[in-house]
Amino acid sequence: MSLSAAERHAELRSLIAYHRERYYRDDSPEISDAEYDELDREIHELEFAFPELQSSDSPTQTVGTEIAETFSTVEHRVPMTSLDNAMDSSELSAWGERAAKGLAADAVIQYACELKIDGLALSLRYENGVLVQAATRGDGRFGEDVTANVLTIGVVPKKLVSKTKAVIPSVLEVRGEVYLPIDAFEKLKAAKEAENVVRIAAGKKPEPVPVNPRNAGAGSLRQKDATVTAGRGLAFWSYQLGEVIGGPEFTSHHATLDFLQDLGFPVNPNIALVNSMDEVTAYCEKFQNERHELPYEIDGVVIKVDDLAQRETLGFTARAPRWAIAFKFPPEERTTLLKDIQISVGRTGRVTPFAVLESVFVGGSNVAMATLHNEDQVRLKDVRPGDTVTVRKAGDVIPEVVGPVLSLRPKGSEPWVFPSVCSCPMKGELTRPDGEVNMRCIEPNCPQQRDQRIIYFVSRGAMDIDGFGEQTVIQLSDVGILSDAGDIYSLTVEQLLTLEGFAQKGAEKLIVAIDASKTRPLPKLLTALGIKHLGPAASEALALAFGNLDDIMNATEDDLATVDGVGGVIANSLISWYSRPDNKVIIEKLRAAGVEFGNVEVSRLPQNLVGKNIVVTGTLVDFDRDGAERAIKDRGGKSPGSVSKKTFALVVGAEAGASKLTKAQELGVPILNEEQFKVVLETGELPA
Ligand code: NAD
Repeated sequence: MSLSAAERHAELRSLIAYHRERYYRDDSPEISDAEYDELDREIHELEFAFPELQSSDSPTQTVGTEIAETFSTVEHRVPMTSLDNAMDSSELSAWGERAAKGLAADAVIQYACELKIDGLALSLRYENGVLVQAATRGDGRFGEDVTANVLTIGVVPKKLVSKTKAVIPSVLEVRGEVYLPIDAFEKLKAAKEAENVVRIAAGKKPEPVPVNPRNAGAGSLRQKDATVTAGRGLAFWSYQLGEVIGGPEFTSHHATLDFLQDLGFPVNPNIALVNSMDEVTAYCEKFQNERHELPYEIDGVVIKVDDLAQRETLGFTARAPRWAIAFKFPPEERTTLLKDIQISVGRTGRVTPFAVLESVFVGGSNVAMATLHNEDQVRLKDVRPGDTVTVRKAGDVIPEVVGPVLSLRPKGSEPWVFPSVCSCPMKGELTRPDGEVNMRCIEPNCPQQRDQRIIYFVSRGAMDIDGFGEQTVIQLSDVGILSDAGDIYSLTVEQLLTLEGFAQKGAEKLIVAIDASKTRPLPKLLTALGIKHLGPAASEALALAFGNLDDIMNATEDDLATVDGVGGVIANSLISWYSRPDNKVIIEKLRAAGVEFGNVEVSRLPQNLVGKNIVVTGTLVDFDRDGAERAIKDRGGKSPGSVSKKTFALVVGAEAGASKLTKAQELGVPILNEEQFKVVLETGELPA
């Protein structure tokens, strides 16, 4: 054994002990679960390579941490163990093989698949049907007495009654997970943020805002004052029996869960009994995809051998049963260094602060930047350059800086102050108009705004010029070739060839794409101008009402405002946009280049979808996404992005999003395939 292995082992022991205390005792971890799991894995591997390093008090042999003095101590008569983890499908199958090997060759194994609720393990003790004690897991042998707090949780039965008149054991210990549902967490977070607004206004320091439902839930349960717990909205799922004296005999885990449900305990409805490891894998994949549709957080799936006699045969290691495994989902939270806070300027002058992070792999991709939205958000979160911050990237949601790890804040750090001038070379003044959350750069010639306006003009929802990337726009504007969107149409192949990364073929292709964009429909052209408040829907309404760009630009504010879907704000914004000479110049450049100002395609199709909302999800064969939406709109219908009670039908193509499908099923919205969709387009009615 090398000395460095022993040294690293000692280091890991103390690191793990330290982080367990932060997590279990303070409910305020300093590192993410994924980082903790890496330490845990490393110490396991080290002890596997050097078994002499292992001792009975090594973290590989123990669970949790010693309990805090806030609560009195409860001894668990049946130890509360942890679970071994499988980090990917190969580790999961390896567990399946180990479990099968531990049983008779002809054993038939059924597996109970359960969601791994991200909360806090809890033991509930009932004597003669009455709740007498509730305890946390603590170090597995001794837990904290949290009875007073648990008595405030509505869904935990206080007195047991069997619906089927089953005999209630004289002693019944029920184990499960206490957790904070996502909406209760959001409520708690919003309340804390509102308090902080008041604190900041009074010149006080903001208090930490809860970071995630797990820590907020654990903190809510472990309150000294049970009335605080009562107001938090904690919930509970039961998943296991502990000590039992008397009552019915059971041979399977699922029968124990049925019994618990009969006695009034909440049992999660997503539990499934399956017959093979392939089905186990399918269950894990399903919930990994659908985890964000649940109203509570899960961090994996727990798979348990269902037969209690088989469990007996498999037994336990020092800290976990061999008959169960936790399949952990990839992490969605990591901690990393916030290197800096910088600002970016959008096409309307809106200035957005963003976090420059030490790149971290989270939620399936590397994250090095994350928006911080606006000045108030930075102040509320009180994140500062130099902080270690928690970064979260869940599902399709953009990465979020959740908050700082206060205990790791460097000494002497000061709150971040929003700059007073723009980051562009003009150093335009930044102001925050009354009643707005955003800072704005008021310099009319701000080059960053100009670049962003051109980038928007060529983008997909606007003039859709294929191959015209952000970098090309920035390079062209840096050398003075582009000063506004109107200059795009006088670009030449020779000019493009002066840029880095352009070859003859690519340059020619881009010029062809630019030329092709001259015939874009009027609503796209209007949208592309990037006029504040004027989005695609109002552009379409204006195009239909006036028929060409000149008539729109010359209309009075009243005429514009009376168009259905336009209104005073947009009308005013349009008038003030066109009153600026530089914008008039753009329009004239576009005219001179031959850009069509009056391309309004009026649909001649039967208007059989008027008043009907049809949502499209997934990939269709005969329509791209825009085409399917256009087909609906051309017939008078609408195609919103999400399913609601008002949805007439949901059209589902390949690789459709599970969330829209589930929502449609819940609301009883008809679900159509592509062929059925064509029938609806044709007839305006649902197919028989
Ligand atoms: P675990 O979370 O990996 O698994 C065991 C726990 O799962 C049980 O105690 C129970 O609370 C829970 N659970 C949820 N649903 C369940 C179900 N249906 N059936 C059975 N159990 C279910 O193990 P652990 O020992 O509690 O904690 C280790 C984990 O805690 C780490 O992997 C890490 O994620 C986290 N942790 C993080 C830090 C940190 O600093 N961030 C520190 C310590 C622990």
